[in-house]
Amino acid sequence: MIHDVIVVGAGPAGLFAAIQASSRHQVLLLEKKDSPGKKLLITGSGQCNLTHTGSVRDFLAFYGRHGSFLGSCLQQFQPDDLLDFFRKRNLEFYISDEGKYFPKTNQAADILNILIQECQKNGVAIKTCERIEKVQRKDQFFLLESNKAIYEAKKLILTTGGMSYPGTGSEGDGYSLAKSLGHSIIPPRPALTPVCVSDFSMSHLSGLSFKEVAIDLFRDHIKKASFTGDLLFTHKGLSGPVILNHSRYLLSGDVLHINFLHPLQAAGLIKEMLDYIQHKGSHSLINFFRAYPVSRNLVKHFFTAIGIKQDLKAAELSKALRTRLIQQLTNFQIEINKVQGFSHAMVTAGGIDLKQVDPRSFQSKICPGLYFAGEILDIDGDTGGYNLQAAFSTAFTAGKSV
Ligand SMILES: Cc1cc2nc3c(=O)[nH]c(=O)nc-3n(C[C@H](O)[C@H](O)[C@H](O)COP(=O)(O)OP(=O)(O)OC[C@H]3O[C@@H](n4cnc5c(N)ncnc54)[C@H](O)[C@@H]3O)c2cc1C
Repeated sequence: MIHDVIVVGAGPAGLFAAIQASSRHQVLLLEKKDSPGKKLLITGSGQCNLTHTGSVRDFLAFYGRHGSFLGSCLQQFQPDDLLDFFRKRNLEFYISDEGKYFPKTNQAADILNILIQECQKNGVAIKTCERIEKVQRKDQFFLLESNKAIYEAKKLILTTGGMSYPGTGSEGDGYSLAKSLGHSIIPPRPALTPVCVSDFSMSHLSGLSFKEVAIDLFRDHIKKASFTGDLLFTHKGLSGPVILNHSRYLLSGDVLHINFLHPLQAAGLIKEMLDYIQHKGSHSLINFFRAYPVSRNLVKHFFTAIGIKQDLKAAELSKALRTRLIQQLTNFQIEINKVQGFSHAMVTAGGIDLKQVDPRSFQSKICPGLYFAGEILDIDGDTGGYNLQAAFSTAFTAGKSV
């Protein structure tokens, strides 16, 4: 049997592309795991941050250098269209303080179930435990070989994801399939991933988070970039949106200069501390920090680290210790030992070279009838629902275009 359309990979992109294509074609969806959407189930810690508030124009800024490539598909299928698709199937959403959309049930499984039900309703055949290992063009058809059978299709949509969290099925298979059809692959790299710091002196503060810290990135003593955002200490180093969202730019050996008191700079802090010492010299130094949105545990850690007694009176602080304390709080330097790999990365940067894909249809420019959607493409977004939105919008366009 020659299928109209075969979709390879039943993640959110594959399921949604299959739904779209099934309005006009007979569709077969092949998945190598024993059930679809393994990664979708763990998104947003199992609660699924589906998308984000903001206009299409706002969205484009959250995909690094590749945002503009998504312009057309985000216009065709906007965040509101995505929410409406699920609302029409009785799933409501709430918005977190940061502007992230989650289903009111807080269950990623509800998103997945709707996608599977919609596939069933539209007659999409889903076959699991089918790992596609080889693909070739034969005349005007695609010939696909799985671990179990051989399939033929007129059109092929590759939605095999990237390489992150390989246990969910995304192990980079799609790259070799696309290569065998003539596509170039931008080398895949882990993104949205935490960093490790060797002998991290703050592992006892793991779980502590900081709002809106400012970080300057130095490489070989040269300032390369500046970021602002929320930071989290882990057992092994640093995470939180400001690290995850910029991990695509970070390398081992980079030095981060962190200002925990952003936007206050060292000069402002010295002035305010001198004021406090002058007027409240008999008070505990640590109480000075009550006026600042900085964790008391962090301040205590710095006291210990540089040898300040926890109950020191403000007037007893020497100039040398004052300078060191202010430096720790406003210009704390930490060297990245390792940027975590694919097993910790939420997404994969790199993938199918966008130069060989038409952004209006997501069809290959070099192999007619071949389409791509989702994370297999060289597109990765920030945390906040941007990656799922990209998976759904690219899948909408690819699925409609076949
Ligand atoms: C822990 C975690 C949390 C996340 N949370 C969020 C979040 O809250 N919001 C957000 O926007 N993004 C989140 N993401 C990112 C998001 O999950 C992905 O960007 C998204 O799943 C990509 O969808 P996809 O369909 O392109 O690929 P995937 O979801 O990776 O699906 C690809 C599918 O293809 C199958 N496959 C692979 N190779 C083959 C083959 N050879 N033959 C057959 N099938 C194959 C795989 O088994 C898999 O089922 C998170 C990621 C992780 C790891």
